[in-house]
Amino acid sequence: MKKVELIAGPCSVESLEQLHATAQGMADVPVDFFRGGIWKPRTRPGNYEGIGEIGIHWMLDMRETYGFKLITEVANAHQAQMLLHAGFDALWLGARTTVNPFYVQEIAEALRGVSIPIYIKNPINPDLALWLGAIERVEKVVQGPVIAIHRGFSSFHQYKYRNQPQWTIPLELKQLRPDLRLICDPSHIAGDRSVVSEVAQHAMDLQYDGLMIEVHARPEEAKSDAAQQLTPNDLKHLLQNLIIRRPEADALTTAKIESLRGEIDRLDEKLILLLADRMNISSTIGQIKAEEDITILQPERWNDILARALAEGNTLGLSDAFIREIFNVIHQESINRQLDILRQFIHTRD
Ligand code: PEP
Ligand code: MN
Repeated sequence: MKKVELIAGPCSVESLEQLHATAQGMADVPVDFFRGGIWKPRTRPGNYEGIGEIGIHWMLDMRETYGFKLITEVANAHQAQMLLHAGFDALWLGARTTVNPFYVQEIAEALRGVSIPIYIKNPINPDLALWLGAIERVEKVVQGPVIAIHRGFSSFHQYKYRNQPQWTIPLELKQLRPDLRLICDPSHIAGDRSVVSEVAQHAMDLQYDGLMIEVHARPEEAKSDAAQQLTPNDLKHLLQNLIIRRPEADALTTAKIESLRGEIDRLDEKLILLLADRMNISSTIGQIKAEEDITILQPERWNDILARALAEGNTLGLSDAFIREIFNVIHQESINRQLDILRQFIHTRD
């Protein structure tokens, strides 16, 4: 069975006592790296911005006392120099850094030639090219491995999770770069400790190579991300319950899966045909609206459609979030079509 890489430790380094209490609780957990953020890129001023340079020494103390290898976030070239000088075993670039190619390039220059592993979190916005670009910038200059971390994407609507996982984006990354290791940060996706383990299990079922999990001796007192951090005992519990499934299956199982996949392919074809039919009707309505000078967007009608879909979806076990997302996309496409028709109509009339 493949080994699952594990990075765990507090969101932020807060005090030497907090690090000891957390590391002690994890002393018998086989972590690959003990994490702790020394400088915290917070979204809003006034949030905890990290303990700063003294945290480097406290982290080194954890290596000395418990034998943990150390990893922390690097957000600029100066920090990179300090952390390399201190002998950190690995570094990660955070989601708010990956968004900016200038920052990434500047940090990459400071990392030139190093052979420790460098982890790159996905950018906060769902942009695969930006994530891949950051990975490539670092790969170009370092000697050691570069690993991707999926931590979810921020969105205006917080359906269930703090950061939407949008699993297809990391899976697309895996498809483009099968050689790249990919780990999941279920803590930042979940945003709440009650759902960290289900996100971690999902990642395992998608064959991720590892997990980065936030752990704090007293999560409720944490200065950052209090709601999502696990206690060391929660972490052990999560690991004990994590199911690592075999990636390859026997012939009978493969046959069963293949036949189910065949059914899915047929249903997908039907879905496409239904969507095409729906859009064609929508175009016909668009033509009538254009001729009769009626507005395209009719909110009451749309509210009725959505309410009916939600109710029907509900009885069939489809989540509200799912129905809303699908219907919003369909509605948008329908409006686009009708707008096109209206433009053509005006053009031919004039
Ligand atoms: C973190 O790991 O604590 C952190 C700030 O993560 P992200 O960059 O994913 O928000
Ligand atoms: Mn955090």
